[in-house]
Amino acid sequence: MEKKQTIVEMSALELGQALKRGDFSVEESTAIYRDRIKALEPKLNAFISIEEERLQARVQEVKEGIATGKYTGPLAGVPVAIKDNICTHGLRTTCGSKILENFVPTYQAEVINRLENAGMIIMGKTNMDEFAMGSTTETSAYGITRNPWNEAYVPGGSSGGSCVAVAAGEAPLALGSDTGGSIRQPASHCGVVGLKPTYGRVSRYGLIAYASSMDQIGPIGRTVADCKAFYEVIAGYDAKDSTSSKAEPVPYIEKELRIAVPKNYLESDSDSKAVKADLEVCDAIHQAIRLLEHSGAKIEYVSMPMAEYATQAYYVIACAEASSNLARFDGVKYGYRSAGGQNLHCMYRKTRAEGFGKEVKRRIMAGAYALSEGYYEAYYLKALKVKALIQAEFEKIFEEYDCILAPVTPTVAPMVGESLVHPIKMYQSDAYTVAVNLTGLPAISVPCGLSGSGLPIGMQLIANRFEEEKLFALAGKYEVLRGELGRKAGISWNETV
Ligand code: GLN
Repeated sequence: MEKKQTIVEMSALELGQALKRGDFSVEESTAIYRDRIKALEPKLNAFISIEEERLQARVQEVKEGIATGKYTGPLAGVPVAIKDNICTHGLRTTCGSKILENFVPTYQAEVINRLENAGMIIMGKTNMDEFAMGSTTETSAYGITRNPWNEAYVPGGSSGGSCVAVAAGEAPLALGSDTGGSIRQPASHCGVVGLKPTYGRVSRYGLIAYASSMDQIGPIGRTVADCKAFYEVIAGYDAKDSTSSKAEPVPYIEKELRIAVPKNYLESDSDSKAVKADLEVCDAIHQAIRLLEHSGAKIEYVSMPMAEYATQAYYVIACAEASSNLARFDGVKYGYRSAGGQNLHCMYRKTRAEGFGKEVKRRIMAGAYALSEGYYEAYYLKALKVKALIQAEFEKIFEEYDCILAPVTPTVAPMVGESLVHPIKMYQSDAYTVAVNLTGLPAISVPCGLSGSGLPIGMQLIANRFEEEKLFALAGKYEVLRGELGRKAGISWNETV
């Protein structure tokens, strides 16, 4: 009993060290995580697929690899959960959709190669909103995922399964993808740390595309240090991704930081149209600001009027790209094929009608509309112009400030069943995260408080391109100032295993 709790309570880096020292074996630690998944899944549903035989074979391989010195890195032997839109060779990858129900990739994502070369062990594939379209992990064809802090609430989305797996101690680390906030927002709702890297810094090869100009894979962990260690495993140039960057990451030199806080998100008396954060969220953010100020940071409130249009521009661009990217799912090349088609066209139509869920169809239609003749200039082109203005606004901020501090979301996690009935309201809840994707900037989400109802609240730190080092340094410093929150899952460690 004692040992089980100790292993699950360890950070990923502590576990890696303990395995290296030989405190216990890779078999033992993986089995403990496996048991915990078995015990918690009936409640949480964070995973879509777990393949027992594959897992056992991998455990043996990693055990030998550690013994022979093949795997020497800090995360060798550490379990990891993978969002189900990241292709894994021979392991079913559904994207949360019925249309890819039986899709077993014949190749895999570059990030998977890298984490396997680091000796990490994939526990399974995690639940997500269908094709990463959503903010609650309620649009999956494989059931909803629940928030481990309180199962009546959603975990956020679309990387809800990955964030729940980490928050509940089903895996110490996970991979997610962030097109408009899908790592940062569920990390915030689940009380864990999540990084959306600079666009181009982590290979998208093998990530099933939603909106290619904004999609990014990123790490999720319980601590900033774990997140950083995992980021270092997956980041770097990859020739297989044409948008992968060769730029050197910017080294961080310790100094007095100047931090900008967008006031429109927090001040109810400002006359902007920005979505205002709830009082509890504002309080938590102000408390974080005070802590950082005491530690010597210079904090100023700024106005970012263009960022207020980010949600509208994001949804036009994201839907437009999705309508094009999802054209490949036609029942011919892979995945589900309707049995009912009498001819080719009918088969395409039925396959897509039966294979895609409601939210995905809504976005394909909205995107095709925005790209169609006569509307292209009014919607798509206009959205691109807004994106350029937002980019210019961020560039100007970074001329004067080292980074931006903001809430991740205007509210804590909504209750299960509340969001999908009001899609526009759900889209508006992405107001603070999407600008980062439109601009390709890096941002980290760190827990900064708990609401009165005991749900986690997160803050995000945004830096200039390739300044992940700065984000990790500042987030790490804040984590120490803040204290223990974020390390503990909602489900008490010893409840089940
Ligand atoms: N909630 C946003 C959307 O539905 C973001 C999704 C994401 O980042 N994958 O588009």
